[in-house]
Amino acid sequence: MSPIPKAELHLHIEGTLEPELAFELAHRNGVDLPYADPEQLRAAYAFSDLQSFLDLYYQLMDVLRTEDDFTALAEAYLARAQAEGVRHAEIFFDPQAHTSRGVELDSVVRGLRRALDAAAERHGISTRLIMCFLRDLPQESALATFEACRPYFGAAIHGVGLDSAEVGHRPSKFADVYRLAREAGLRLVAHAGEEGGPDYVWEALDVLRVERIDHGIRAIEDAELVERLVRDRVPLTVCPFSNVRLRCVDTLADHPLPAMLAAGLLVTVNSDDPAHFGGYVDENFDGVRTALGLTNDQLRLLARNSFEASFLEDDEERRKRLLTEVEAYRFPGQD
Ligand SMILES: [Zn+2]
Repeated sequence: MSPIPKAELHLHIEGTLEPELAFELAHRNGVDLPYADPEQLRAAYAFSDLQSFLDLYYQLMDVLRTEDDFTALAEAYLARAQAEGVRHAEIFFDPQAHTSRGVELDSVVRGLRRALDAAAERHGISTRLIMCFLRDLPQESALATFEACRPYFGAAIHGVGLDSAEVGHRPSKFADVYRLAREAGLRLVAHAGEEGGPDYVWEALDVLRVERIDHGIRAIEDAELVERLVRDRVPLTVCPFSNVRLRCVDTLADHPLPAMLAAGLLVTVNSDDPAHFGGYVDENFDGVRTALGLTNDQLRLLARNSFEASFLEDDEERRKRLLTEVEAYRFPGQD
């Protein structure tokens, strides 16, 4: 039984690096990983909080050096995504995490694009690439990265986002670079309301003028904000497994997803950093179905939302076709 067709809208490509590929790339590039084998590395993925996750995340990135490495990373994800029912993927990458290590921006972008450009034919997946700024770095660094990426805008890079440690790094810190991105015609998203409060979501909307909020689970604490998000049909890319692993919610059964759906928010389910958080997007769908008792109708709504929330408006034909596939999908056991 194939999984329901869906779009993945919140996925950090660096967070799809599985231990086996990490070891393969480490060997290829002569990088010493402080683990005996992929199994020991997988055990280290059982981190306990955001900081220990980020430490491991940046340590592992060191195995990514060449254009071919980035192609291998993206290709491994896309093959996996196809099996998960993903038909459209909007993929984040962190240019600063690579250029700061001396990796050429061109190797990163061209390497990723090589896999993405082949994905339609090879995996039946359309793609968009979104560059994210690391919010714990100063805006000057984001501005320099933005200018360095300018030659790739449009064909190779479709939008900008904001990620990494949220608290203490308010969206408004990046007002200037978002204004430039808007002027350059890029699509705008930002992580907000994951650990930060609803005020971070307000700022992302009003100061950065983002079109989509990544995470946004804490928006539910603010009735006026919920009303605004519902009225403007602002999508929220929710990542249930990530929220549990990073202790934003205690257990999957405590996740606010049902309340968000009940409030009429345009919610989608995504995997964030699936190699680290215990599953890819269809496992997240399965997890919320089991832990939260979501019905087939609710799962279908989440799949429909994922295409409605996507930046597919330059290919409305495809969006319509994918939505038709969602409606035609039959769940296991369904008549
Ligand atoms: Zn994220």
